[in-house]
Amino acid sequence: MKPIMKRSRQRDAILAYLHTRTDHPTAEMVHTALLETMPNISLGTVYRNLAQLAEYGIILRISCDGKVDHFDATTTSHPHFYCNACGCVEDITAPLPYNPINYVSAAFKGEITDCSIIYSGTCEHCTKQATG
Ligand SMILES: [Zn+2]
Ligand SMILES: [Zn+2]
Repeated sequence: MKPIMKRSRQRDAILAYLHTRTDHPTAEMVHTALLETMPNISLGTVYRNLAQLAEYGIILRISCDGKVDHFDATTTSHPHFYCNACGCVEDITAPLPYNPINYVSAAFKGEITDCSIIYSGTCEHCTKQATG
């Protein structure tokens, strides 16, 4: 059992901010935004709270390139797209033809509880820039 997570003003602010975003911000982006209302909040505090919220399943942590984590307030399993050019993360909204966990579970003896799909390539914005 995980200990009950203590609420804090900072964590509430981080979570509230994340709920207003659909662009999967990084810890640094969250930190920059929160500095406007909480000038004393450190990047370490933001990162620690984000990591903890993700651990408790309250938010989603998306590790795309193994370097920078992105965070998402939408925790229902959904596929993501990662742009190799600018590093942005977007939701893929096309409906899947099947539930990937159910599909794979039929051929797997253990219990699969989570599935993360990350597509990568070049986002719409970068594609347009490349072609002028
Ligand atoms: Zn891009
Ligand atoms: Zn997402």
